Amino acid sequence: MIEFPTTYDDLDVPAGAVVRSGGTDLQERLRSHNASPTIVDLTGIEGYAVIDLDGQRVRIGAGTPMATVARDLATSHPALAIATGSLATPQVRATGSIGGNLTQHTRCWYYRHPETDCFKSGGDSCPARSGRHLYGVAFDRSDCVHPHPSTIAMALRCYDATINLADGSTRSLDEVLGDGTDATRDHQLGPGEVIASVEIADGWPDERGAYFRSISRFEAEWPLVEAVVRARFDGDTVTHCALAIGGVATVPLRMSAVEPTLVGSVLDDATIATAAATCTDGANPLPETGYKIDLIAATVTETLERLRNR
Ligand SMILES: Cc1cc2nc3c(=O)[nH]c(=O)nc-3n(C[C@H](O)[C@H](O)[C@H](O)COP(=O)(O)OP(=O)(O)OC[C@H]3O[C@@H](n4cnc5c(N)ncnc54)[C@H](O)[C@@H]3O)c2cc1C
Ligand code: SF4
Repeated sequence: MIEFPTTYDDLDVPAGAVVRSGGTDLQERLRSHNASPTIVDLTGIEGYAVIDLDGQRVRIGAGTPMATVARDLATSHPALAIATGSLATPQVRATGSIGGNLTQHTRCWYYRHPETDCFKSGGDSCPARSGRHLYGVAFDRSDCVHPHPSTIAMALRCYDATINLADGSTRSLDEVLGDGTDATRDHQLGPGEVIASVEIADGWPDERGAYFRSISRFEAEWPLVEAVVRARFDGDTVTHCALAIGGVATVPLRMSAVEPTLVGSVLDDATIATAAATCTDGANPLPETGYKIDLIAATVTETLERLRNR
């Protein structure tokens, strides 16, 4: 019998147990036998689902529902808010949390199949690489070839995000996500490590943001490719910019090399085309994911046009 915690001081995650926030990913993995049935529910912890806007940085409790993030940060952090408000379905966004989103597991159909083993479920091979990988990566940099599932991790790549753990320590987002080469894990938190909150800097004055996903159906699906951008303008000219793409690698990718093309521009069609094409530099798709090259360029183009037209 596990006592559910009400403060982080009470929190004890026994060896072999998993934590639950909204349960929208964990519940499905319990069905496919990819999660321990010993669960510590975090939802009653004081402050776990609270957004604190009063400090120097914005602190988002890890249990905050995604719908709340999308609503409360719409003005100050529009890129994060639009991306968060566009994923999954209203029901999932109302239940699922920002902490659970960052630590959800891959959607690879081999991993989710109860009778298939792979690197991510304790096996020693990747059946997707030798088998079907239509929704796989376009930047092949790991023994695992399925993209990172988190839209919010992609958006947070554009912010100076840090992750506060329940033991009082702080990690950078990069440390939590890793560089994507570890085929055995979707994030680098150790067993029993729990996210208490996510911190980001205040938004830029008059910040604008845009997001677009290319998806195989209208909603209730992970994107084939997604892109997010945040920017500040002086008149029509971009003065600050951060761009990231997802659905293409085992971690979401910040497009730092592309941002200088956008800063100082008025986002004319030629600049957008150059930036979109540059986002595919270094891509090395799998046999079934070559289509993602054109899709990356098209998705980034649409995202930047939305930014220009806001
Ligand atoms: C139809 C559908 C479409 C979706 N589309 C998208 C999409 O496009 N983009 C996207 O990003 N997501 C998508 N999702 C996934 C959804 O966003 C996640 O299921 C949700 O964010 C998980 O949050 P949760 O609170 O329910 O996590 P839970 O299910 O409770 O937990 C998920 C994982 O995180 C761990 N965990 C939970 N909280 C913490 C914590 N505080 N610290 C450490 N570990 C923790 C759990 O142990 C578990 O392994 C989709 C889901 C569905 C059902
Ligand atoms: S792509 Fe990753 S999750 Fe899918 S089978 Fe290969 S190792 Fe497992």
